[in-house]
Amino acid sequence: MPVHVFGNICYMEEIMKIAKKYNLYVIEDSTEALGSYYTNGPFCGKYAGTIGDVGVFSFNGNKIITTGGGGMVVSNNKKLIDKIRYLSTQAKDDTVYFIHNEIGFNYRLTNVQAALGLGQLEQLEQFIQIKKENYLLYKDLLKESNLGYILDFNSSIRPNYWFYTFMLKKPNAILRDQLIQYFKDNDVQTRPIWKLNHTQKPFLNYKMCGGKEAQFFYDSAINIPCSSNLTQEDVRRVAQLIMDFEKNYEKTGISRRWWSLQKRNRRFG
Ligand SMILES: *Cc1c(COP(=O)(O)O)cnc(C)c1O
Repeated sequence: MPVHVFGNICYMEEIMKIAKKYNLYVIEDSTEALGSYYTNGPFCGKYAGTIGDVGVFSFNGNKIITTGGGGMVVSNNKKLIDKIRYLSTQAKDDTVYFIHNEIGFNYRLTNVQAALGLGQLEQLEQFIQIKKENYLLYKDLLKESNLGYILDFNSSIRPNYWFYTFMLKKPNAILRDQLIQYFKDNDVQTRPIWKLNHTQKPFLNYKMCGGKEAQFFYDSAINIPCSSNLTQEDVRRVAQLIMDFEKNYEKTGISRRWWSLQKRNRRFG
């Protein structure tokens, strides 16, 4: 189950080769790459979610298009789609006598939500255009940064530019948190990427394999403002904050003010 994140598409060529070799189904978690497609290679012209056996999309409130909640499954495999439709609509085998031969779910979108989604889908390319302009502006404004850079997309795709990631040149969780705090002090919301599953309480006692790459990204990445209502002025302000922080950081290293804030946070939770 490859997960396309931030508008990027995973290296599907390699993934599909492995799947073929071991006879595996591929389910693409494509929410964050809605509208991204290959412009090169064997999947040229193919959209995220249409390369594996099944593509799934969330239309939750924070996504590039939203219906408030719910989502969508796509596939070329009619048998799979019929089965998914059956399970998502309560697995009813006889609607008069209420016969359920399997355990079903109530996962369908309402008609009103679906109408909303179709309306948003028509605007998707406009959203992507704004996101692309802001992405290119961020990239240009931060190209001189010594601290980090805006993460690139897979060069074989036209991404949807959903999320912008500022990557520190060297992984450094303390510096990451310090920069996030600096943004917060200036009323700008930024975030680290997801806390790693193997460090979450419910999974602490389980075996884990890999994790080195994930830790690298967790310690290096900061997601910066990316909404499609972000103005060019907003983008300039965010980039300037990074450059100001950097100037100060080069002069003083980890600031005393930051450590005292950390102490205060620990004390007051
Ligand atoms: C939002 C998101 C989900 C979860 O979607 P829900 O509709 O909240 O279940 C899963 N995967 C990715 C990549 C997402 O962005």
